[in-house]
Amino acid sequence: MTKMDEKLEAIMAEVMRRNTGEEEFIQAVREVLESLGRVVAKRPDYTDDALIERICEPERQIIFRVPWVDDRGHVCINRGFRVQFNSALGPYKGGLRFHPSVNLGIVKFLGFEQTFKNALTGLPIGGGKGGSDFNPRGRSDGEIMRFCQSFMTELSRHLGEYTDVPAGDIGVGGREIGYMFGQYKRLMNRYEAAVLTGKGLVYGGSRARKEATGYGAAYFVEAMLATRGTSFDGKSCVVSGSGNVAIYTMEKIRANGGRTIACSDSNGYVVDERGIDLDLVKELKEVRRERISVYAEEKGAGVRYISGGSIWDVPCDVAMPSATQNELTGKDARRLVENGVLAVGEGANMPSTPEAVRVFQEAGVLFAPGKAANAGGVATSALEMQQNASRDSWTFEQTEQRLASIMRHIHDTCAATAEEFGAPGNYVLGANIAGFVRVAEAMRALGVI
Ligand code: GLU
Repeated sequence: MTKMDEKLEAIMAEVMRRNTGEEEFIQAVREVLESLGRVVAKRPDYTDDALIERICEPERQIIFRVPWVDDRGHVCINRGFRVQFNSALGPYKGGLRFHPSVNLGIVKFLGFEQTFKNALTGLPIGGGKGGSDFNPRGRSDGEIMRFCQSFMTELSRHLGEYTDVPAGDIGVGGREIGYMFGQYKRLMNRYEAAVLTGKGLVYGGSRARKEATGYGAAYFVEAMLATRGTSFDGKSCVVSGSGNVAIYTMEKIRANGGRTIACSDSNGYVVDERGIDLDLVKELKEVRRERISVYAEEKGAGVRYISGGSIWDVPCDVAMPSATQNELTGKDARRLVENGVLAVGEGANMPSTPEAVRVFQEAGVLFAPGKAANAGGVATSALEMQQNASRDSWTFEQTEQRLASIMRHIHDTCAATAEEFGAPGNYVLGANIAGFVRVAEAMRALGVI
């Protein structure tokens, strides 16, 4: 553990006391507080009025029962969550995750990260996150729809385009957003398009939203590589995951001249030295909802499938963890460094353990934390809200251009902040400080809230 300022240490101890057992939340708070030492040294007033304590405490936490009926007529029960973390900068904004691992601690960590990520975009969005321990794997369309309808029946009373605007995350894509929007519209008798983002293009979605997280992460890494006078061109890349973030990260890497040689799912990973065939991954994951092992079965010779194991054993120039939290350990990081990795960009939220981050930083590897690198998704959600509010719809090019300039702005802000606080090249510090300062300034302006 890095040495912290005394006041920050006391705040950390209190966060640990009141959030016992919520490991991911505690990990996320610690990472931010460890970055704030340099800020409070310059600006001791930031520790006044319990400002940091308030930022570590969600504004509201909602937990509810989600009853639904499966295809066999059995009644099933899941638990639903929405943590409305911080609304100093705008309505709560952040995705919904449907995965059996979801619990309050995970939703709180995601909501906390989201608050700083959203602040970094420079757009008027607060932070929130939600989801359920529902496991969508193997469920029929009808079951997914009934679950989404029941989930929204309860959640709807807490939402609104000026209150809280969810979107997707793991296990929640276009299909689920459609079912939830349909139910919200029905319950409220209002066509309130901006209450959810990640909508389909036919009913108020934004072009480039689906691609935005992955494209944005690649833009961020491209900007980092440029600081060392290089680019994706000719680089070999490993991208973990094979969901929405991973797919569009790989697509942008390819467009920029790089080659992704491995991707994964929670069962194993595939290595295809010719470059991952994205059309096949899209078909498997977006249409057929298959496992990644099927990629190797269908491609045959030249493709390896490794069940279990670690995708980070595959040597590469650029690694982009885009699956889930804590998927890249200290051991994985050491292996990547031994194999000569140049840059790491987090497409997922907090995929590298604190030890892994330390290993990268000590080895001088360019490292982009998720709250900066994967902010393109939520930024484009804010652009979707903007289009909905003005009853307009932009072209793909126009939207992607906005995304590119937002990512450039986030990169430059993180780099400049790190420099200002005496840690050039430390994007973790830059992102945490820049995000914190924006939230803190807004909170102070609004009184004791
Ligand atoms: N779940 C995404 C994230 O982690 C997107 C959230 C949104 O678009 O509101 O940032």
